[in-house]
Amino acid sequence: METEVVVIEEKKIDEKARDNLKRAGKIIRDGGLVAFPTETVYGLGGDALNPMSSKKIYAAKGRPSDNPLIVHVANMDDLAAIVQEVPDAARKLADAFWPGPLTMIMNKNKKVPYETTGGLDTVAIRMPNNEIALELIRQSGGYIAAPSANTSGRPSPTVARYCVEDLSGKIEMIIDGGQVGIGLESTIVDLTSQVPMILRPGYITAKMLEDVLGEISIDKTIIDSSSTERPKAPGMKYRHYAPKGDLMIVQGSQSQVVDYINGKTKDAEASGKRVGVIATDETKSLYQAHIVKSVGNREDESTIAHELFKVLREFDDENVDVMFSESFDDSGIGQAIMNRLLKAAGHHIIVL
Ligand code: AMP
Ligand code: MG
Repeated sequence: METEVVVIEEKKIDEKARDNLKRAGKIIRDGGLVAFPTETVYGLGGDALNPMSSKKIYAAKGRPSDNPLIVHVANMDDLAAIVQEVPDAARKLADAFWPGPLTMIMNKNKKVPYETTGGLDTVAIRMPNNEIALELIRQSGGYIAAPSANTSGRPSPTVARYCVEDLSGKIEMIIDGGQVGIGLESTIVDLTSQVPMILRPGYITAKMLEDVLGEISIDKTIIDSSSTERPKAPGMKYRHYAPKGDLMIVQGSQSQVVDYINGKTKDAEASGKRVGVIATDETKSLYQAHIVKSVGNREDESTIAHELFKVLREFDDENVDVMFSESFDDSGIGQAIMNRLLKAAGHHIIVL
C-alpha cells in the first residue's frame, strides 16, 4: 500500500487542511489507518468502534493483542456514550485537564469492541489537546483508537519522520504536524478502583491529580523497578522505547557520573564501538565520547520530556552501539522521564 503524507500546521488549519482532514476522517470511517500528531506523541489512528480497525492497528505496529488501545474523543457526550457511567472523578479531572495529556480508565459498554480493549471490560479514554487531532476525531465519527505510531518496542515518534520510518507502506496516510509539544505519552489513571490509581506516569503528575481528587495511589511497579508484580496497564509489562544499541543509565553525583561515563567511553571506543552519551545542557561539554547529545535542561525538565524519544531515535540513525545516559530526579515529570528511560534501558542502571 502507498502511504500518503500530508503536511498540516496546527496553527493554520485553512481550507486545504480541512479538506485533507476530511479525507483522513473518511479513511478512518472506511476502516483504514491514519497516523496523526497529538500534544503527547504521534498516534496511529483507526475507528475505535470497529473491531477490524483495531486488528489492523495491532498488525501495523506488531503490537501484542493483549495490550489495549486508548480511545480518543473530542467531547464529553461522546465519552458518556461508550462507558457504563461517567464517574464524578472523571468529570472533575476532565474539567481540570481535558483536552490534555491524561487518559482515564472506566467501565466500557457494549459499543466498545473487545478488540480495542485487549479483551478487558474497561476502556482507556483521552481527549487530546491538539487541533489537528480533535478535528480528525470529529471527521472520523467521534472515536479514534490510537496507540503511539511506532513499531511496537521502539521509541514513540515525536516527529512525523519516525512514523514514516516505522509505518510507511502499512497504513493509508500520515499527517505531518511538526514536532509534538510534550514528547511523552499521557498519564494513565484508573478510575475503576476504590482509590484512583496511576498506571503510567506522564506530564500530569501525581501531585496535580491529588490536588483535584484528594487521595490517589500509584501502581507500585512504576516506581519500584525490582517489583515482580504484573503492571496493571497490560502494556507496561513489555520492553518499550528501546533504541537499537545497548543503553545504560548512570546514577550518582555529577562528577562521579561524568568520570564513570568518560572511563567507559574510552574502553568501548578502544574496542571499536560507537558510543553515544545522553547528557544535559549543564554537562554536555564535559563528555569525551564521539557523539554527545543534550536531552534538555535540568532547570526545566519538560525540555527533557520533549527531546528524550527524539534523541533515542537519533542515536539509532547514527548506528550507535553503546549509550550511556545520565539519571533524572524521580519526582514530578522526572518520574515519567525515568519510567521511559528505565524501560528503554531494560532497567540497566549503575548506581555509583
Ligand atoms: P500507547 O497507546 O502505546 O500509549 O499504550 C496505551 C497504554 O494504555 C498501554 O500501556 C495499555 O496497557 C494501557 N491501557 C489501555 N487501556 C487500558 C485498560 N483498559 N486498562 C489498563 N491499561 C490500559
Ligand atoms: Mg506506545
